[in-house]
Amino acid sequence: MGLKNTEAITLRTYPFREADRIVVFFTRTYGKLRGIARGARRLKSRFGSSLEPMSYVRVIFFAKENQELAVINSCDLLQSHAALRRTLEGSCHCARFAELLNEFSQEGEANDKIFRLFLAVLDLSPLLTWPARARYLETWLLRLEGVYPVFLNCGRCGHEFGKDTIHVRSGGHEALCRACSSSRDIPLTFSERQLVHEIFSRNITSIDWNCWNRQTLKNLGKLNSKLIQYHLEKTLKSDRFLKELDEC
Ligand SMILES: [Zn+2]
Repeated sequence: MGLKNTEAITLRTYPFREADRIVVFFTRTYGKLRGIARGARRLKSRFGSSLEPMSYVRVIFFAKENQELAVINSCDLLQSHAALRRTLEGSCHCARFAELLNEFSQEGEANDKIFRLFLAVLDLSPLLTWPARARYLETWLLRLEGVYPVFLNCGRCGHEFGKDTIHVRSGGHEALCRACSSSRDIPLTFSERQLVHEIFSRNITSIDWNCWNRQTLKNLGKLNSKLIQYHLEKTLKSDRFLKELDEC
């Protein structure tokens, strides 16, 4: 079996042996991939900054069947996204995006829609704020996983929502009217639903994010975090850190 070549997004690394690192990538062709980058812990490593989270790279690797770890032959930067990691907020969000992609992806299962979604939210446009990138990413990721409900009628009684606040079940899939909902369901106002509609109908760079106030973005973030938590059956480590940063 020869060398394989694919585009990838670097997710995380951890030290391995004296001089190596294990790297986790989300590859365009092979889904999640774990491999050894030999010598990556050395000061002058040939891998340079290509192993930073959310780097867009071309990776060439060698993998034997039934072997858990691939051997990374080379990893070249296509887009470093380093500018996005220069602030504390930016590096925290990049770590969160990497954690989300790591949790939602499977080894050997490529998903081109998810791959393109992550590249889109890493667009270098200075007009995109972190809350905007995060809401776009989470909302689409949950939709592609089939978690987002349809917001037209109550899933129980069929009542048409109109401009009412709706109540989303904590596991997603279903939205209810007030009368059918319980206190555990998560409310979503008409304005928040309009933002979701906007996210599903436009590219991230063609949405006028200035139209959406901070509170609307924050409330949608709360719903998304609950749905992610329920879907993964755990809280993201980076969510706790970002919450602390937000409260500072
Ligand atoms: Zn109802």
